Amino acid sequence: MLFQLWSSEIKNFSIEDVEKNLWARQAGFDDKSLARSVNEFNLAFTKYGINSCMQKIVFLALGYAETRFKSLGEEISSFNSSKSIYKGRGFHQLTGTRDGNGFYNSPGPYENYATAVGNQNIISHPDLICKNIHYAIDSAGWFWTDPNWGKKVPLWSSSSNVKYIKFRADYFSKALGKPLNEVSHLVEDDEKYFWLQAKLLNGYPKGEKLEIDPNGWKTRKNAFDILKNNVFEFNIRCKGNDGLKFNGKWHDPVDNPQRTKYNSYGYVKPENGAYGNVRNNGSKYHSGLDLFALPDITPIYAPLDCTIAGITEGPVGGKVVRIKIDKTKDLLEQEKIVNYKLEFKHEEMGINIKETDSVYFIYMHLSAIPSKKLFTTKDVGKKIKAGEIIGYTGVTGNANGIPSPHLHLEVATVMDPFNNGGRTKRTNPARFIKLNSYDTKEQDDASKKNHNIKYE
Ligand SMILES: [Zn+2]
Repeated sequence: MLFQLWSSEIKNFSIEDVEKNLWARQAGFDDKSLARSVNEFNLAFTKYGINSCMQKIVFLALGYAETRFKSLGEEISSFNSSKSIYKGRGFHQLTGTRDGNGFYNSPGPYENYATAVGNQNIISHPDLICKNIHYAIDSAGWFWTDPNWGKKVPLWSSSSNVKYIKFRADYFSKALGKPLNEVSHLVEDDEKYFWLQAKLLNGYPKGEKLEIDPNGWKTRKNAFDILKNNVFEFNIRCKGNDGLKFNGKWHDPVDNPQRTKYNSYGYVKPENGAYGNVRNNGSKYHSGLDLFALPDITPIYAPLDCTIAGITEGPVGGKVVRIKIDKTKDLLEQEKIVNYKLEFKHEEMGINIKETDSVYFIYMHLSAIPSKKLFTTKDVGKKIKAGEIIGYTGVTGNANGIPSPHLHLEVATVMDPFNNGGRTKRTNPARFIKLNSYDTKEQDDASKKNHNIKYE
């Protein structure tokens, strides 16, 4: 997601460009990797209920501007605010309360946030919020949503004698008293509420006239438009012609999911990546969906809240992670949204999942790099949130050296369908994933490279 956000601004980008330009890069964070930032955003979205497209767009657009083109984790300027103990820090620039001398030396929201997350060190070491990538993003999620201590629209009263209060009460009538996350829903119909959110994050001085735009208004608007139109493709993916609603619970197993265009001999055979008797003219079964993925750099995600069910390794599947979905009902909701139609002659739907079924997602051929292995057998039973990174794709098992590096994904009602039930226990994973086009330059380029990389 972030990858797409930055890439839409940088022409001819590479992974290195993207990483170099990521806001965390310059900001002195403990972990500057793209994967970690993406993971932290997804965690905050889940934890704080930043679910809909519009909520995410507004949250990201304002954070982007608050960190000044994602270059700063803390406020650095010649103003008093920047010399304060509790100056602006983190993705939404959490700022303390102003004292009589104009410095923000009283902890204010820092104290409330410390209590909310149970870490009093934040008060004595406020730099945690600009040095630790988790707190930098988590603090913004908290400030954006907390009903008691987060940033809310004041309860301006339209019966007030004070002119500007009355004006604001009438003009922003739908937003009064709401946390900023809730106000995001109003932005779709009326962009003035985005203006209001920016103004409140920035500080909305008493008596100020409406026409004075918030600091960096053009940047904010620009970030909003890029996110809405290019990254989220709001009108296509979030609304859709058929009333398609974004399911905030679901996260695709990989970003930009597309089936493999090439087969393992380098021929254009997209059907080979589909589920069913799709290979050798309908005579050879493929037990999952092959999602194109560059090895060792493509994170795989938990699609829904789930539990780690198995960590194994073998000559065919290579390194394998199995997860069990906590609520099958959520998966069935996603299936309805996608409403998948078979694309190839021999492709099959597989079994129909029922709400009472246990459902497992099985991720195969994962990375051989030790640091990319996030779980061991000791982690079996561990709870994982939707959108959390659970590993990285690779070319282990029989996927070594092929021109179509991919994640082989299976969805089954048993943990080990290979030894227990086979196709009577499996379903077509494409039922749950909105696939993008497989005909991409990325796949063409990848097919020319040798992915047979050995790691010690
Ligand atoms: Zn496969």
